Amino acid sequence: MYYISTRGGSEKKTSARVIKQGLAEDGGLFVPERIPTVSKDFIKKLAEEDYAHRAADVLSLYLTDYTYDELLSAATDAYKEESFGKYAAPVKSLDKTHKVLELWHGPTCAFKDMALQIMPRLLSTALKKTGEKRTALILVATSGDTGKAALEGYKDVDGVKIMVFYPEDGVSDIQKLQMASQEGENVNVCAIKGNFDDAQTGVKQIFSDTNIAKELDEKGYFLSSANSINWGRLAPQIVYYFSAYCDLMNAGDITLGDEIDVCVPTGNFGNIFAAYLAKRMGLPVRRFICASNVNNVLTDFINTGIYDRNRQFHTTISPSMDILISSNLERLLWLIQGEEKTAEFMKLLKETGKYEVSAEVREKIASEFIGCFASEDETKQTIAETFEKHSYLIDTHTAVALFAAKKNATDIPVVTASTASPYKFAADVLSALTGNRDNGNDFFRILRELNAKTGAAVPRPLAALENKTRRFTTSVGKSKDEMFAEVAKFAD
Ligand SMILES: *Cc1c(COP(=O)(O)O)cnc(C)c1O
Repeated sequence: MYYISTRGGSEKKTSARVIKQGLAEDGGLFVPERIPTVSKDFIKKLAEEDYAHRAADVLSLYLTDYTYDELLSAATDAYKEESFGKYAAPVKSLDKTHKVLELWHGPTCAFKDMALQIMPRLLSTALKKTGEKRTALILVATSGDTGKAALEGYKDVDGVKIMVFYPEDGVSDIQKLQMASQEGENVNVCAIKGNFDDAQTGVKQIFSDTNIAKELDEKGYFLSSANSINWGRLAPQIVYYFSAYCDLMNAGDITLGDEIDVCVPTGNFGNIFAAYLAKRMGLPVRRFICASNVNNVLTDFINTGIYDRNRQFHTTISPSMDILISSNLERLLWLIQGEEKTAEFMKLLKETGKYEVSAEVREKIASEFIGCFASEDETKQTIAETFEKHSYLIDTHTAVALFAAKKNATDIPVVTASTASPYKFAADVLSALTGNRDNGNDFFRILRELNAKTGAAVPRPLAALENKTRRFTTSVGKSKDEMFAEVAKFAD
């Protein structure tokens, strides 16, 4: 299997090369030339396996330049009990219709762990397979959650070092503590005196500076990214939906061949696109509910065929979905209408912030996707109602999705992806339950109060933070030179 660019401007490449490279040369995203299909027997076999084997089986259809053993060892290592507990992605049943796929049992209590635990291992194997002698130096600019998940994923992985930049005043105290206390021999964390955009701009400038590339090359390093558009982060997400389907079969909720609906709280369109690929491969999914918060650019796109990012940006209680450019939508457009039109739309998006698909494409998308959004109040109400009715505690992102799932429920099961532990967004979850707007800013007191009120277990990695010491305290100016000086010290 080879990979090409959604915009048509890249030669065919193996998966190892696209995982190393990240973004295609023409600015497009890497996609598999064709989508592999599976039989009912394949799903039946998956149903008898543990999560790591399910992952290796599904990934082996895409990463054909890796051996099965390489994939299985990466998956076994990534989804080990020590990191994810006994079940990496358990499905909880609220009632006959509503099933919740919990994707937050990893080390940072959010679903990005599911991909960021295995991708570094795939990269490390890719370095060996491509005969790479240099060390991959991963640079990440983060507004909070991705940085910690990437640090946990890349820590102590062979052939890789990782450095994370975050805005000093742009992340919460707990996110700061999470990153500053990071363990591992190959990690580094640095605050910058600026906002997230400054951090992002600095990192991008470092990436595109050929002198820097040369200097690092001489020291035996090359730069790489952990970005959410990397195929190595997308492919492992396809597994969740096969796994959830198998678990519903095993629980007797469905029989092989029955259709389900899938509802995903969506930001960058990565998670829901992975679910869509599962359907294209043969998983019996009827339709996808694409759930957004008030940054509802995707709801409008699905309903009107017009993608328009020229609108007010809202800061919400589901911040990981506060996005106006959903990068992975480009992959869906490519699948439906090919590279020429996709390249044209992406150019329009860059120049005008807007494009409109044909009526035919709009109908095709609307036949498989429902767009739905939740207001801030609807999100909070869903948290309170779900706890009252089902004694089940959900975070703000999951609440956006469960609101959309309930609104569009029919007579078949709908699997809602739960993307973060309620404790990760404890202050807003507690407010939703009590109606008190201000819970102060003592994170650990809020954790205890939420635990006392609900009885839901506090995830170990969050509770353990209280006793961690800060290893990384460096803070530098936001210029590229000041940031690179820290990178250069680290790459020595
Ligand atoms: C990243 C994230 C999302 C959005 O996922 P996409 O793949 O970007 O659509 C939703 N919820 C949480 C908690 C996240 O961290």
